[in-house]
Amino acid sequence: MRCPFCGNIDTQVKDSRPAEDHVSIRRRRFCPACGGRFTTYERVQLRDLVVVKKSGRREAFDRDKLERSIRIAMQKRPIESERLDQMISGIVRRLESMGETDIPSDTIGAIVMEALARIDTVAYVRFASVYKNFQAADDFEDFVSELRPPAAVGREED
Ligand SMILES: [Zn+2]
Repeated sequence: MRCPFCGNIDTQVKDSRPAEDHVSIRRRRFCPACGGRFTTYERVQLRDLVVVKKSGRREAFDRDKLERSIRIAMQKRPIESERLDQMISGIVRRLESMGETDIPSDTIGAIVMEALARIDTVAYVRFASVYKNFQAADDFEDFVSELRPPAAVGREED
């Protein structure tokens, strides 16, 4: 695994342990060239997914990219990182088990919103606002009141 700091490809695994309830293996790595330390995760990948954008453009599904967008939505929310990892793994497993290799970006967005709605209303609204790319504030209000999960109401202060 290439060192993300200096580019050296000869890095060492210092520690491996199961994470996310044995869904992944977490490895602590060390770069002897620059002394950098970083973590990698090993996960089962059932199939290679392709995301089909609205424009028709296709690109390989990238778990890290999905994770980044979700983490942005979750910024400063009181949700443990481990729980977030579990949620993301759950989303990926759902996508992988859909029986199709090609997955429309809309489908992924809908699944992410569904998962976020269950754990955090604020993150859900943030993600939805970016994802839906609302033109008018009114549309956004309607959307939120329509889809707001009743169980999570009352936790939306920031
Ligand atoms: Zn390095």
